[in-house]
Amino acid sequence: MIVVMKRNATGEEVRHMVQRVESLGLKAHVLYGVERTVIAAIGPERDGLKDSLESGTGVAEVLPILAPYKIASRELKSEPTVVAVGSLKVGGRHLGVIAGPCSVENEDQILRTARAVKAAGASALRGGAFKPRTSPYSFQGLKEDGLKLLAAARDATGLAVVTEVLATEDVPLVAKYADVVQIGARNMQNYRLLEAVGKMPQPVLLKRGPSATMEELLLAAEYILDAGNPQVMLCERGIRTFETHTRFTLPLASVPYLHSKTHLPVVVDPSHGTGHTYLVPRMAAASVAAGADGLILEVHPDPENAMSDGYQSLNVEQFAQTMELCRRVAAAMGKEM
Ligand code: PEP
Ligand code: MN
Repeated sequence: MIVVMKRNATGEEVRHMVQRVESLGLKAHVLYGVERTVIAAIGPERDGLKDSLESGTGVAEVLPILAPYKIASRELKSEPTVVAVGSLKVGGRHLGVIAGPCSVENEDQILRTARAVKAAGASALRGGAFKPRTSPYSFQGLKEDGLKLLAAARDATGLAVVTEVLATEDVPLVAKYADVVQIGARNMQNYRLLEAVGKMPQPVLLKRGPSATMEELLLAAEYILDAGNPQVMLCERGIRTFETHTRFTLPLASVPYLHSKTHLPVVVDPSHGTGHTYLVPRMAAASVAAGADGLILEVHPDPENAMSDGYQSLNVEQFAQTMELCRRVAAAMGKEM
């Protein structure tokens, strides 16, 4: 149920309704909008609930939420959510660009990349310290040493750091260093992990599982929101299909579709979505044209010798050119980059 408060409802009336919702055995999530405050009352429906809530003082109306995801739905919140942390702003009019290597490899690599992407206009630095690799024999990441290098790169450039957490037991460690915590595609339905990052203060970048539907993605986001973290960015990073000309198939219809269903910002990853450097610039521009609120791009100073995903990484010059192209499309889309 959505408890819509009157425009002039007082803080006291909102607090009272939160207590009322909780006393009915439901969970209350308050959303303060520009126009009005709404309280999401989450829990099993039962007879008389609507009438009971509607009689509260300061309440304008009580509506059911039809979507299976509740807090993530547009029905609950019509204004777009803007996720903001340090140098990064994603959502609404803001288009954030998260750029950096697939993996943090060494100090020189991450510092050079961070300075170069910053100079080209990136708003945040990405880099994996815990890497989910298909083979156990592939480079698994520098773990805490990698997190420390990311923190050093943040100190040197002022860029917010986006990095993946692979396992629930690593959440406290990653939280010590990260500005945004990434949940990788392989973990989209790791519900204990989603609950754990839902209790963190940092925003979460939630990547779509390669075989997950849009509804499954939104329900995964709902776990994080329901655990108390309102700052969730959804990421389309491509899905597994019969097609082999790209590493994954990047369905850009996800962007306007998600915007119609949720207030959460949508980020696109054309690096993993295509798996080929030469396809990335134009698919990045296409993502912006589709209305993306953010891009996440793999950039490496020497892609040929990267320890992971070099074949889909942009070098520094290619990244700068991609930024130029995307800026022109962003201007046409009314987005600030
Ligand atoms: C990554 O961002 O490097 C990554 C592993 O992405 P995904 O989880 O989308 O495969
Ligand atoms: Mn990668």
